[in-house]
Amino acid sequence: EHPVYGRIDGPIVIIGFGSIGKGVWPLIERHFDYDADKLTVIEPDAGQANFLRQHKLNHLQVALTPDNYQEVLGGLFPDGKGFCVNLSVDTSSLDLMKFCREIGVPYIDTVVEPWAGYYFGTTDNAARTNYALRQAVRDEKARNPGGTTAVSCCGANPGMVSWFVKEALLTLARDTGRDATPPTDREGWARLMMSLGVKGVHIAERDTQARRLPRPRNVFVNTWSVEGFIAEGFQPAELGWGTHETWFPESGHRQDSGCQAGIWLERPGAITRVHTWCPTPGPQFGFLVTHNEAISISDYYTVGKGANPEFRPTCHYAYHPCDDAVLSLHEMFGSGQQQVKHHILTEDEIVEGIDELGVLLFGHEKNALWFGSRLSNDEARDLAPYQNATGLQVTSAVLAGMVWALENPNAGIVETDEIDHARCLEVQRPYLGPVEAHYTDWTPLQDRWEHFPEDIDESDPWLFRNVLAS
Ligand code: NAD
Repeated sequence: EHPVYGRIDGPIVIIGFGSIGKGVWPLIERHFDYDADKLTVIEPDAGQANFLRQHKLNHLQVALTPDNYQEVLGGLFPDGKGFCVNLSVDTSSLDLMKFCREIGVPYIDTVVEPWAGYYFGTTDNAARTNYALRQAVRDEKARNPGGTTAVSCCGANPGMVSWFVKEALLTLARDTGRDATPPTDREGWARLMMSLGVKGVHIAERDTQARRLPRPRNVFVNTWSVEGFIAEGFQPAELGWGTHETWFPESGHRQDSGCQAGIWLERPGAITRVHTWCPTPGPQFGFLVTHNEAISISDYYTVGKGANPEFRPTCHYAYHPCDDAVLSLHEMFGSGQQQVKHHILTEDEIVEGIDELGVLLFGHEKNALWFGSRLSNDEARDLAPYQNATGLQVTSAVLAGMVWALENPNAGIVETDEIDHARCLEVQRPYLGPVEAHYTDWTPLQDRWEHFPEDIDESDPWLFRNVLAS
């Protein structure tokens, strides 16, 4: 009943067996033909050893470092065949991707991750931005175009949401009586977005997954990597900066090299709040946590070039994580201490809730359109083992990206904006629960606290000045 999308010849290496790696494995098993004895998991945490042994998965219990990665991966991929699936923290996506391409092995990851120590050991905030991390991958693509496929940032977000932006644009085109034929190149997509009058995109997410017990104090609880979330939450808030913006944040910094699609703020993303909207809660606060897709989407939909293009959308994450994670952030930033104990909610302890993850396209003639997945944990549990709703949105995107890479083995380094969104969603959709489009009349000027005057500009509701909460 599950389609097998193709054969992977040679070894499959999964780097990192945390919440995502553990959920990807059963999807790989289900949807690819491969030699099971050639699958190896690189996972330094001894806590996973029992599971891996019981499931007869080869386990290399080692942490990849700048000193050992070539030797370890070179040993596992002796003859330039196979697939490298990087789902770890603390490994350099760029270095691993470059090495895999050198030896001719397809590669996929879900984030541009740096080596251990970078996020907290770097004092220059500009260097800690996702803009800088992404630009290094874009520069490598420019230096070495084509060659073995490496799909960069192919999770739920970054990843799937880039495919949702395209579906949302086609939906909006159809619903406003325009031609809804999918454009065939980047320029065409950018012009479609511009012609529809879209001013920007929130990656608008509400995670309502909850367990029965209240969160214990001094434990950081989340529905996916706690380490990953703390790291990105402490990076500067960051967003793709659109051409409709008329104001500039006081603590904002522009970029003077690279694509120049983004700006960053002198403030951690996970305490920077924005006004946003999702179907379940309606209006809500989200956190302006930096993400690769904020920059990649703004860059991809640019008409023109550089700092002053003809058109560019504003784009950023507006994330309301699960309530336990909101409390965890509050405790962490308030105390100035990272919790030592971390916990990722498992599919079996979650008793209710959905991960509602979509894109909110705003500023057009129908005001705003949210398009996304509203997958519940209950449904996720029925669809695939070892993951909650958040995990399944990510792992099924990894599956889709792997299928696309197998079908396009010499596409070079690509981001998810650059690959066939229809094919990827075709593969992914059975795992996404309800995928829905919702129009709303809500704007950031509504539902505010009118007793306290704010620094807003009512001439255009969708200015970032109005979206950013004071
Ligand atoms: P996790 O924290 O549950 O697991 C990460 C795993 O990496 C751990 O098991 C850890 O032991 C392992 N690891 C740590 N250092 C390593 C090293 N040096 N070499 C090899 N393995 C190492 O995280 P997760 O929730 O499984 O997320 C995995 C990655 O996916 C993270 O980078 C996260 O940011 C990313 N992610 C992306 C998305 C998306 O939508 N794009 C969503 C969720 C997670």
